[in-house]
Amino acid sequence: MPKIYFIDVTNRDGVQTAHLGLCKLEKTMINMYLNEMGVFQSEFGFPTTRHESFYLQANLELAEMGVLQPIRLEGWIRATTKDVETAFKLVPNIRHLNLSISTSDQMIRGKFQGKKSRDDILSMMTDAVEAAKSHGAESIGVNAEDASRTDMDFLVRFALAAKEHGAHRLRYCDTLGYDNPFTIYETARILAENVGIPIEVHCHGDLGMAVANSIAGAKGAIDGGQDAYINVTVNGIGERAGNADLVATALAVTKSKGFAEKYPLGKPIDLTKAWRIANFASYAFKVPIPVNQPGVGVNAFAHASGIHADGVLKDPENYELYNFEELGRGEPEKVETGRQICSGEYSGTSGFKHIMGRMAVAFKDSEEAREILELVRYANVEAQKPLVEDELLFIYKYPQIARKLLTLNPPE
Ligand SMILES: [Zn+2]
Repeated sequence: MPKIYFIDVTNRDGVQTAHLGLCKLEKTMINMYLNEMGVFQSEFGFPTTRHESFYLQANLELAEMGVLQPIRLEGWIRATTKDVETAFKLVPNIRHLNLSISTSDQMIRGKFQGKKSRDDILSMMTDAVEAAKSHGAESIGVNAEDASRTDMDFLVRFALAAKEHGAHRLRYCDTLGYDNPFTIYETARILAENVGIPIEVHCHGDLGMAVANSIAGAKGAIDGGQDAYINVTVNGIGERAGNADLVATALAVTKSKGFAEKYPLGKPIDLTKAWRIANFASYAFKVPIPVNQPGVGVNAFAHASGIHADGVLKDPENYELYNFEELGRGEPEKVETGRQICSGEYSGTSGFKHIMGRMAVAFKDSEEAREILELVRYANVEAQKPLVEDELLFIYKYPQIARKLLTLNPPE
């Protein structure tokens, strides 16, 4: 029976969003949290972008060390042989790729300005798939950009060609958030039935339907006999109005009326990590979590009105669909209201030892303390805000990896 898997694209769609970004250590922490949560795959970056090279290599090293396991780390590139060549040159041990190309007439006309036909799109894509295979890619997803505005017959042709050349999944991109649950259901089902390839649904919130479209698309793929892979981002951060939110989508799939019995997850999502990852992403992106955010917003479990408060006190199930503990909430959080010693790019050994001591870290000698402090200073140069405890512990545990993450070598 086909199942649903989650692919997080925060480290690609999220970070390419206007006004927003993450430094390489923050991107790594997102991968760590996603892995702990049980997310199937992280689209962890751009293998053709030079300033990502050390970050991508370092994260693949963490995977080899068994730290970033079992999550699958996959890179996003354009579907051209040139991008495939560059990706394997800059990140030789990358094994999972998604290759993206526009498929709608609007974009073929509007982006390529009459220089490319539909047949050119097909041959560019299949050449790129062949190139990725010959370099040893273990899994290849092919992304149809603007799929929701693409002629259905051409989309089927495109997906069949991708499959024939060895692609493992088709990413159906509702790039502009144009679909509604009814249309995406229909399209995903037709694709699954006629192509026989697992379908990724990549939905945006321009019409406020990213989560609804994601589960409708997943249902379509499964009703058509194929696995469904839902693309999500932490806190829904992504281009324009954003993507399907990781936590909200996980809640929708597992807790909405009658859905999970017929459309189960292939790999369980540990929602008790939701609070932590949502708050880290909020801090790292410097974007507050909306008060009414499902599951992790301030008001998600808050009750003021008489009837609601009375009802929830008698039995939480009167007014709550799920428990706050399920989202990893309820633990007291220490907020310092007096003196604060925090990390910074000009921190010294004494303050640093104090901070690490609070986490019960005892350095072997002052040499080790100085070494880790130096890395923490560099991390602060990139983050421009005090590091959180998990980041400090990460640097302490994996100093060599941290050194790589903090290395930027612009070409001459
Ligand atoms: Zn997108």
